[in-house]
Amino acid sequence: MLQDKDRIFRNLYGFHDWKLAGARQRGAWDGTKALIDKGPDWIISEVKVSGLRGRGGAGFPTGLKWSFMPKNDARPSYLVINGDESEPGSCKDREVMRHDPHLLIEGALLASFAMKAHTCFIYLRGEFIRERERLQAAIDEAYAAKLIGKNNINGWDLDIVVHHGAGAYICGEETALIESIEGKKGMPRLKPPFPANVGLYGAPTTVNNVESIAVVPDILRRGGAWFASLGLPNNTGTKLFQISGHVMKPCVVEEEMGIPLRQLIDEHCGGVRGGWDNLLAVIPGGSSMPMIPADQCDNLTMDFDALAKLKSGLGTAAIIVMDKSTDIIKAIARIAYFYKHESCGQCTPCREGTGWMYRVLERMRTGEAEKREIDLLFNVSKQVEGHTICALGDAAAWPVQGLIRNYRHVIEQRIEARKGAVKQAAE
Ligand code: SF4
Repeated sequence: MLQDKDRIFRNLYGFHDWKLAGARQRGAWDGTKALIDKGPDWIISEVKVSGLRGRGGAGFPTGLKWSFMPKNDARPSYLVINGDESEPGSCKDREVMRHDPHLLIEGALLASFAMKAHTCFIYLRGEFIRERERLQAAIDEAYAAKLIGKNNINGWDLDIVVHHGAGAYICGEETALIESIEGKKGMPRLKPPFPANVGLYGAPTTVNNVESIAVVPDILRRGGAWFASLGLPNNTGTKLFQISGHVMKPCVVEEEMGIPLRQLIDEHCGGVRGGWDNLLAVIPGGSSMPMIPADQCDNLTMDFDALAKLKSGLGTAAIIVMDKSTDIIKAIARIAYFYKHESCGQCTPCREGTGWMYRVLERMRTGEAEKREIDLLFNVSKQVEGHTICALGDAAAWPVQGLIRNYRHVIEQRIEARKGAVKQAAE
């Protein structure tokens, strides 16, 4: 279990003062100028040493991503912080913005300096009204204390702009988010070019998740080696896990990367509802990640590599627990509806495929489908996966594939049961 001394998010539950005075008591803004005085190369190198992998879902090494920004470019650079957090099951970034916003603001200054950005945008999902108010109040405090802004005491001019989205899931995709900030429809761009070369307003841009930026001040103060000493090799540091669904006490908790799933749920959530024997499956990383059936959960560790081996992923570490009362076909059909609804409609496999998969799943839920459609559904999901502009197509396809891989027998039983019922009614 993570020791208190290694905790980064010390006000995760809002028990203490979120304002500047409280944040300072917890160590925020301590020696920020001294960190900046060490230079951008030192900052990037420490983040690389820490092994921090992006906390928004993809798990790309953060320090490496920062080093992609062009070194000598006449154009301005931008840091964009992704606080869109719209993946079903994910609810960690909102806790950071509600209860410890200065972690994010200080991280924004340090990361912006490392990438020579004088403007940072923080993009919030449309529903985050309270979070926006809290974050803006904290930013105003930071300006007033001359921690950010022009000629601030930390020695790097930075303006932070909070940009409020309108509630579209697709705006969590980095290029759709950039389009949205530019005032256009939130539709993903074809890559390449990547944002590091052609991003916001055509200028070099790095987009990072809220949690990725909020851990940066602690990494720099305590050293990249300290962060790397936590967790597992290639899966280092602490992580905000969000556990919802059929557990006794759903929660958001900071733990070491690689914590066993059972330990995480038993120690922080009071166990699975009805006990572990009552577990059906977990979705380990937000709704886009394929489910892991109960028989594979016993020795499962919560990290990028262990979950990839099971053809799933850590994603945002939003764990949705489903006990045996769950209608697994209905659950996945509901997720499919979400992706159909949120598709931006730009590419055919996603626009047509998400709706088609949802409709077939609905017929499977009621047992009206034919058994041959199970393979057809799997094949169509493979045609959606990897054939679209952005990852929403993959996100829609993977849960369907997970359902068929693990619960084909449930679909078949449902179809047979309906056939039996229809036949009986006809007799
Ligand atoms: Fe839009 Fe879907 Fe294509 Fe992404 S995959 S660009 S959401 S249509």
